[in-house]
Amino acid sequence: MKIIVLSINPYKEKDAIVTAISEEETMTFLARGIKDPKSKNSALNNVLTIADIELMDGDFKHPILKNSKPLFSSLKIDMDEKYLGAIMLMDEMILNLFPSEEQYIMFPYLEKAVETLKNKNDWLMTLLLLMSHIIRLGGFQLEVNRCVLCDKRNGIVAFSFTDGGFICQECYDTDMSRDLNKTQMLLLRDIVNCPDFSLIEKEYNKTDAMVLFNKFQQYIEDAFGYRFKNIRLLIE
Ligand SMILES: [Zn+2]
Repeated sequence: MKIIVLSINPYKEKDAIVTAISEEETMTFLARGIKDPKSKNSALNNVLTIADIELMDGDFKHPILKNSKPLFSSLKIDMDEKYLGAIMLMDEMILNLFPSEEQYIMFPYLEKAVETLKNKNDWLMTLLLLMSHIIRLGGFQLEVNRCVLCDKRNGIVAFSFTDGGFICQECYDTDMSRDLNKTQMLLLRDIVNCPDFSLIEKEYNKTDAMVLFNKFQQYIEDAFGYRFKNIRLLIE
């Protein structure tokens, strides 16, 4: 069974209780000896490791790891603080924004995000795309193809996170918040409309993307009612 490791909690000397998601469920299991670097299962001791595992029942409240084969490691030799911060934030989002029994719905997006981060080395766009998928799957989809208030497709003049989408000229009111400029609105539309992580190949303006990153962060915090802890490395 293919899994992505979400958390590792030390248990006794070299054992750990591991929480992970597969394509079908969120699971918790006991992994004996994984804190020992020499253990054949030690790759599971890193968050966002993708591995093929086999579990067995034993005399413990959770299933026990029988064996594992690492498929992909999020670690790499030249990790800078943005890369590390992105790994931590991706893990934190899946663990905290969704109830434990629903975390597994993020499996295909998280798998792609971990691979994209490592292979393309663009933490900012990788996170923006993952956050967009999280916003949608969490039920807080942003409207970027028509006016969120009247459904009209033309004359879009603003974007409002409070209203959750584009606002047209007729619906726009001067006391409404105008959160983004035109190029930021176009970039946001590309991100929200991207069904996967393919946008990573496209050139974009880093300053605009950083504005969107800050807005996404606030929007997710407000919508999901959660405050991020691992954001400092990424915004300084
Ligand atoms: Zn309108």
